[in-house]
Amino acid sequence: MWRLKDILLNLVGTKCLNCGHVFYPPKAACPKCSSRNVKKVSLGTSGKVITYTVVNVPIEGFESMSPLIIALVDTGGGKVLTQLTNVKPDEVYVGMEVEATVRRSATTLDGYVPYIIKFKPKERYS
Ligand SMILES: [Zn+2]
Repeated sequence: MWRLKDILLNLVGTKCLNCGHVFYPPKAACPKCSSRNVKKVSLGTSGKVITYTVVNVPIEGFESMSPLIIALVDTGGGKVLTQLTNVKPDEVYVGMEVEATVRRSATTLDGYVPYIIKFKPKERYS
């Protein structure tokens, strides 16, 4: 559970020391230039919605969560592609302040239950 604590305290991404690209979730190699010269960086725990899309077609395993709101959030430290929660699709807007929260995800096909980061509006605390 050390990882969960890690995630709760901090949203960690990876920065490429070769080209400077910051990516999330962390990867062992840069998706832009394939360099393995990367280091973990803190992305912060809050940010603003840059753009978002509402997925009305349920994805297998996510039927109970439809519609899904997928947003690109700028945390200042990097850009995070994430799911928004605690908000209705028509309440989301570009520039909305959001903060990270940890949720249990749907069980994957191999039975693993991952904890994943989602973002929720900053104004609400539920
Ligand atoms: Zn790179």
